[in-house]
Amino acid sequence: MKKALITGYRGQDGAYLSRFLLGKGYEVYGADRAGDSGQWRLRELGIEGRVKEVALDLLEASNISDALEKIQPDEIYNFAAQSFVLVSFTQPVLTAEINAVGVARLLEAVRKTCPKARFFQASTAELFGSTGSAQKNETTDFHPRSPYAVSKLYAHWLTVNYRQAQGMYACNGILFNHESPLRGEEFVTRKITTAVARIKNGLQETVAVGNLDALRDWGYAKEYVEGMWLMLQQPEADDYILATGEVHSVREFIAEAFAAAGMDLEWKGEGLDEKGIDARTGKVRVEISKEFYRPADVKELVGDAAKAKRVLGWEPKIKFKDLAALMMDAELKRQENIKVDL
Ligand code: GDP
Repeated sequence: MKKALITGYRGQDGAYLSRFLLGKGYEVYGADRAGDSGQWRLRELGIEGRVKEVALDLLEASNISDALEKIQPDEIYNFAAQSFVLVSFTQPVLTAEINAVGVARLLEAVRKTCPKARFFQASTAELFGSTGSAQKNETTDFHPRSPYAVSKLYAHWLTVNYRQAQGMYACNGILFNHESPLRGEEFVTRKITTAVARIKNGLQETVAVGNLDALRDWGYAKEYVEGMWLMLQQPEADDYILATGEVHSVREFIAEAFAAAGMDLEWKGEGLDEKGIDARTGKVRVEISKEFYRPADVKELVGDAAKAKRVLGWEPKIKFKDLAALMMDAELKRQENIKVDL
């Protein structure tokens, strides 16, 4: 029986990957500093109690080596992070401690205690920052535009370095935005789908968001975790982009979510005064708030996952429209206490 250790296992990706690996017969160990706040994900996936909880914090070197020594995992997936881009502008040092130095602690502990373990680092499309509008691939330059992205850049190159300098099997998955009904509500897609479901059910009047013009490549997290696992099953370690290749704006996602709930939106006004209005009732449903703008945002991110398709045989099936529809469907079901198919 193979053993996998997942840091951040109660987050969206950690929870989906836990279920996927349990389904493959792995013994799954999970570490999570967020306490019980993500437990609902394991519950909804029906795997509560099946992941073995490990005390491991990326801020503390000694407990990382203790845990690795004891478990001797075959595979390690690092999802533990301060993962909010906006928060990183006000907490740049904590972000670096966890996302950058934390990965140094982890890789160093792997090198010392279980150097044969295969290591996956959740790297990010945010590394690209503003590098023009073309599809990004594994050779595109990085120009990070947030403390979050800068911290992840360090982790990315360190992972490459442990592969090259220490001969470890260490991979980066350069992940474009990937969403699901298990996404945290702070992220724009889930924030919107929960709000739209509440608006439809008369529990909320409006939702306030930030930059409507941000363009993103949104895929389905459930499919992305399979790509991550595939990265660790190859003869050689390497880095891969996971993306859908489709790009849409936040504005389009909002319209799609309302449409999936049976409401047509019309946009009126400009800039901070722009509003999304229900075409049938004339009610204002979407407003803009400065609070959700980032000091520097990434205008457009779209990825080219051709290498993952060629080498790993990985290809996303769920794209933008289906993703918005399935997230909306899940949200409406949740509000009616109907079991969600995840
Ligand atoms: P991220 O790409 O990992 O930071 O994922 P998010 O879902 O947090 O943000 C995606 C894009 O949506 C970014 O360009 C944000 O600026 C934009 N956005 C617009 N309004 C909002 C909002 O209200 N909340 C969040 N989180 N993002 C927003």
